[in-house]
Amino acid sequence: MTANLLDFDLEGLAAYCATLGEKRFRATQLFRWIHQRGASDFSQMTDLARSLREKLAQHARVEGLAVLSQHESADGTIKWLFDVGDGNAVEAVFIPEDDRGTLCVSSQAGCAVGCRFCSTGHQGFSRNLSTGEIVAQLWFAEHFLRRHLGRDERVISNVVMMGMGEPLQNYAALVPALRVMLDDHAYGLSRRRVTVSTSGVVPMIDRLAQDCPVALAVSLHAPTDALRDALVPLNRKYPLAELLDACQRYLEHAPRDFITFEYCMLDGVNDQPEHAQALVDLVRGHRGTGVSCKLNLIPFNPFPASGLLRSPPQRVQAFAKILVDAGIVTTVRKTRGDDIDAACGQLAGDVRDRTRVGERMAQQRTVVLRRAPAPGRTKETTRS
Ligand code: SAH
Ligand code: SF4
Repeated sequence: MTANLLDFDLEGLAAYCATLGEKRFRATQLFRWIHQRGASDFSQMTDLARSLREKLAQHARVEGLAVLSQHESADGTIKWLFDVGDGNAVEAVFIPEDDRGTLCVSSQAGCAVGCRFCSTGHQGFSRNLSTGEIVAQLWFAEHFLRRHLGRDERVISNVVMMGMGEPLQNYAALVPALRVMLDDHAYGLSRRRVTVSTSGVVPMIDRLAQDCPVALAVSLHAPTDALRDALVPLNRKYPLAELLDACQRYLEHAPRDFITFEYCMLDGVNDQPEHAQALVDLVRGHRGTGVSCKLNLIPFNPFPASGLLRSPPQRVQAFAKILVDAGIVTTVRKTRGDDIDAACGQLAGDVRDRTRVGERMAQQRTVVLRRAPAPGRTKETTRS
């Protein structure tokens, strides 16, 4: 089996090139061809010696993922479904905004955490993606979009690991993929513009701080252990106090001086004024100093099997006001791409389900997006 060069960060590629008797600067050239130019054919790489190109053609490949479908929302959001074999598929979503282009990337086929409100969680866990499969989502999307939009320069300015899967339960593949995203010879994204979102795998938060401290988002969803145990089963292993301690430790290394807490607003479940107050007490009162954070309120994106409903906008606003009045920076996330089931938590990506999803998407492609109205002192944003 030949090596897929999408599996390597620059160090890995240099080590691989060394096995072919090639110097490090050759690895850098190759890395730039692959990631900056989107090349997969070694014969195109004209500034590499012919002998190297021949060796590569024999021993290596640059192999992306097959695209099963592509859907474009009325608001410009694009969702791709990629085949990862054995009946599994994963999704990536591009979210264009005036000042940035964000790609939401998957880390696993399915997810083992099993959150109540998440359709990926309901699907169960199939397998971890390899580094190459994580990187391939960005490699494909970036170069597709440049062609699609007729642009020479970078289109994707931000990556959020908020697609399918729990990135910190696929740590070994995640870290080299993050390094490719950050590398100036590849995508050159700043650490502030790459966000890992986690449901709270405490030991891995500490390792990420050491290995590759990018921006961190923590999916909180509940202010008490009793409620969080029910919504995010991982809480039974890593309860809130331990999770907030890990956030505090992460801040010493983080590229931003805050942690983003995500909170999915579920009608009648976690959206009452007393939940907002408990949330204020939790993040402000933690260890007497509080945790420096921003709160991101996400309107729940319903899917049939959840049995849950989205909180009404007035309730989200009332909730946000309690946080804002307590001095916590709070945003209410706009829902993007929900007409194509590309919004947070709607990513299912199961090939067995593909035809039905495809039909549903086709029917819904022209549906006008629902937008949560901007509450008074909070601002609206998308995944950032
Ligand atoms: N596993 C990681 C990252 C992927 S989920 C995590 O849980 O953080 C990305 C975000 O989407 C998380 O904040 C998650 O809580 C949220 N989410 C999941 N299902 C959702 C739904 N149905 N509606 C809105 N947000 C959802
Ligand atoms: Fe997994 Fe995140 Fe979905 Fe929970 S919300 S099931 S951790 S993908």
